[in-house]
Amino acid sequence: EIRLTLDSRIVIIGAGIAGVKCALGLRQHGHVGAIILLNEEAYTPYDRPPLSKAVLTGDADGDAIALVASGELNEAQIELRNGARCVGIDRVARTVSYGEETIGYDRLILATGSVPRELPGLEPGKPAVHYLRTLDDALRLRRDLQVAQCVVIVGAGVIGLEAAAACADGARRVVVIDPARRVMERAASPPLSALLESRHIAAGVELHLGSTISEAVPEGEGWAISLSDGTQIRADLVIIGIGVLPRSELAVETGLAVEPTGIVVDGNGRTSDPSIFAAGEVAFGFNGRLGRHDRQETWAHALNHGEHVAAAIMGQRDNYAGVSAYWTDQYDLAIQVFGECTGTRDIQRGDGDSFLIYHLRDDKVAGVTSVNAARDLRRAKKLVGERIADPALLAEPRVDPISLIVPALI
Ligand code: NDP
Repeated sequence: EIRLTLDSRIVIIGAGIAGVKCALGLRQHGHVGAIILLNEEAYTPYDRPPLSKAVLTGDADGDAIALVASGELNEAQIELRNGARCVGIDRVARTVSYGEETIGYDRLILATGSVPRELPGLEPGKPAVHYLRTLDDALRLRRDLQVAQCVVIVGAGVIGLEAAAACADGARRVVVIDPARRVMERAASPPLSALLESRHIAAGVELHLGSTISEAVPEGEGWAISLSDGTQIRADLVIIGIGVLPRSELAVETGLAVEPTGIVVDGNGRTSDPSIFAAGEVAFGFNGRLGRHDRQETWAHALNHGEHVAAAIMGQRDNYAGVSAYWTDQYDLAIQVFGECTGTRDIQRGDGDSFLIYHLRDDKVAGVTSVNAARDLRRAKKLVGERIADPALLAEPRVDPISLIVPALI
């Protein structure tokens, strides 16, 4: 392993939130040598969460969703190269290639994120088929939605439901299909799924849960779709949101340790090559809090892990210990989940349109879901990981939940 020196060059592949936060973090932690950020897209780095919300509804465009204030990367002397799609890594020469260029590195960080899983028969590039990951995807979808009378959405995950909420404006038919028995099964507790289902149905969205597409045949400019439950639909436009896969091809090709769940890294983001790190969603990293490897697919994780890896490269040695957390906005529901999204026992505090759900495993709080209760969530987060004396009291509005924490034995 080559020592990091004042004039070392650090190259980051990927300019999403993990790559950008890593670049800024390296400067903040005192790296003075070159930092080069390779961005395969033509746009300056932007934030992805609005793509399935405000960008789709036309309430925000590319400029409004910049990831950093204009000039911030410049001021930090981070060399951003747009349109630089990296095609190979040479670990012996310590170089990366993109276009006609080959550049050397002393430390390399892979922050390449994820790529949408493809649905056989309705792959990206087919007419009237949309996947949603990039700003170009969102702008193309927004344009095509304007004339679509019937939209079929495959996948009732976060992408599918946020897209459904953006599409369901009464002007068109919106159908959501998922083989699961409830929406957002992977990321939501049963009461949250039930709430989301009722809101979508109230907005006129047709939910086909427990069903799959049995056939999709091109018809005119759209698709004739048959569902396993017997329903036939003529879709003008299809949106696929059936999950993501880590973009680890560069790591595989150069012979790094890679699992189907991502590039294997230690608690500091280091891959099987000590000069190469992976940050954010592409990394299958050791999490000190969980005591095992884990890959998280959230904005908050990409941000925190990007910063953690920067600090680690600059000498910090603590294992990453991030708690999983995400938010989603659908209709008038502002939802946040901190920690595990469900428990063996779910206890709701509050009702109506603003409440918390504590997710308990044994007598410990494993996570909290907040629905339109961001202020209460701030306190509730303190309970995650703690043992609770009498969990039923969590539902009591007059009881301060923090008073229920059982002090840890020393
Ligand atoms: P998710 O994993 O959240 O949801 C995918 C859904 O599609 C699951 O319900 C899955 O079911 C279902 N599915 C899988 N295969 C099929 C199939 N063949 N037919 C129909 N349904 C199927 O992924 P998304 O695509 O919604 O989102 C991708 C990523 O984008 C997320 O991982 C997240 O990182 C990010 N994202 C985050 C948001 C947020 O935090 N607010 C918003 C939007 C995106 P099963 O689980 O049974 O496989």
